[in-house]
Amino acid sequence: MKHYDILIAGAGFAGIYAAWRLARSGAKVALVEASDKIGGNLQSKRWKEWWVDNGTHNFDIRTPIGEAFYTDILRDNILIWDDQQWGCTTDKTWTMGFEMPDFSVDDPALAQTALAELAALEAEPEKPVPAQYLDWYQATYGPTLTEAVKPMLAKYTGSDPALFSSDARGALGMFSRPKLGNDAEMIALKESSPFWDARVGVSLASGDPRFAGKSVNKKFCYPAKGALTGFCDAAKARLEALGVDIFTSSGVSHIEDGNGCVEVKAGDHSFRAGKLFWSLPEVVLAKVLGIDVDLMSSAVPVGTCFFVFEVPEASILGPDYLQDYSLSRLPFRYNKLGVYSEQTKADGTTLVTAEAPCHPAKIKEVATEANLARAWEAMLDVGFVKQGTQASNAMFWGHPVAYTMPKTGWRAPYEQAQAAFAKVSERIVGVEFGYRGRFNFMTFYDTKLESRLLGEPT
Ligand SMILES: Cc1cc2nc3c(=O)[nH]c(=O)nc-3n(C[C@H](O)[C@H](O)[C@H](O)COP(=O)(O)OP(=O)(O)OC[C@H]3O[C@@H](n4cnc5c(N)ncnc54)[C@H](O)[C@@H]3O)c2cc1C
Repeated sequence: MKHYDILIAGAGFAGIYAAWRLARSGAKVALVEASDKIGGNLQSKRWKEWWVDNGTHNFDIRTPIGEAFYTDILRDNILIWDDQQWGCTTDKTWTMGFEMPDFSVDDPALAQTALAELAALEAEPEKPVPAQYLDWYQATYGPTLTEAVKPMLAKYTGSDPALFSSDARGALGMFSRPKLGNDAEMIALKESSPFWDARVGVSLASGDPRFAGKSVNKKFCYPAKGALTGFCDAAKARLEALGVDIFTSSGVSHIEDGNGCVEVKAGDHSFRAGKLFWSLPEVVLAKVLGIDVDLMSSAVPVGTCFFVFEVPEASILGPDYLQDYSLSRLPFRYNKLGVYSEQTKADGTTLVTAEAPCHPAKIKEVATEANLARAWEAMLDVGFVKQGTQASNAMFWGHPVAYTMPKTGWRAPYEQAQAAFAKVSERIVGVEFGYRGRFNFMTFYDTKLESRLLGEPT
């Protein structure tokens, strides 16, 4: 039996980041991972000679700890962007900057009505947050914007937004910054009061320094080579150099409370640890512990379909990421993946991707040849790739779960599951709701996780 201070179940981003932080603080740490590689969602697919990621990703280095982590892992395989161009479109008009729907050019009449409704709401007293996301949206943004964003939300999540709890608002943050006028008007409103500052967006092209730090600070990085697989390979080497033991092909199958420790079986290995950090979804923990709580009914899963095209690099017009809110086109995001990871062949060919969210149950309907053709038309139509370009090759696939959204009423089954986990062992520490995703998880580590893992069990 192997002994550790902390055993980490799952070597996706959360497991890798926690292992890096804990090992640097002197703890004896092991990572156990079910698949034969670490990285989870951050692994790329091999397609012909290309590495293709599971959708659009970039690494956030706006905080000192984010910068320290990614630069320590990636070392000389790092591409730093301080001028990354984010764009969004509601139709043919691109806005550079925040990931918000932009109504200011495509639908000025709607923008005017929405502004008037917002002005009326400003005068109203604060109300408690309603349980449903759409009720919260209407109370915060008014009926016109609510009706306008509903189909966009359905496109973005591949599910009916009426299902979402208001606790989903963090994950849907881009809908909370619609652009309703030109930059000068939006800046003036944002300056006028916190009410408007929280409710309207402005494009980065405004160049206004007051928005530095509010999603405007464009500091991101990405592996210069090998796409996300480059990150996973580098993370494995760096963690091992820091003394972390990594056990792949070792899915956790059994957990029980030991005498002053937690005992875990994973693959062919048995472990004893002071704490178990469960980086995986609660639903997997409930299954391993044999706890019968219906957690599936409390979340709406969001899957994605990817469409990848080989194109001449010279025919990509950019920007780096384009969020497409237009309802007449299929994908939600486009990116020039090959260019980021220096995957341009001698003949100048590289790859671009388009991403269409869908419910996991609908992947077979969305990941089709017909939609591959639609995604390509969309890419040309929106102007991400020059009209007249021919894609020399293309492929598509579906990824069942990119993330989950809380359903209205999620809290009761979630709390019931947490109580059942604590009964098995107080040494099991999980990720609290709302802290999944890379940036959020880093915050969770600092504010809650490290003290729970390194402190006494409660
Ligand atoms: C298309 C897409 C785009 C995204 N874009 C962004 C973004 O822009 N920004 C952002 O912050 N986040 C984004 N995310 C989400 C982000 O990638 C994930 O939140 C993050 O990578 C998840 O890390 P994780 O460690 O929580 O889970 P995972 O990556 O799912 O890792 C879990 C790991 O646990 C392993 N495992 C499963 N069962 C067991 C078991 N029984 N025992 C041991 N190991 C087990 C799995 O094999 C896996 O390696 C995106 C996700 C997708 C799919």
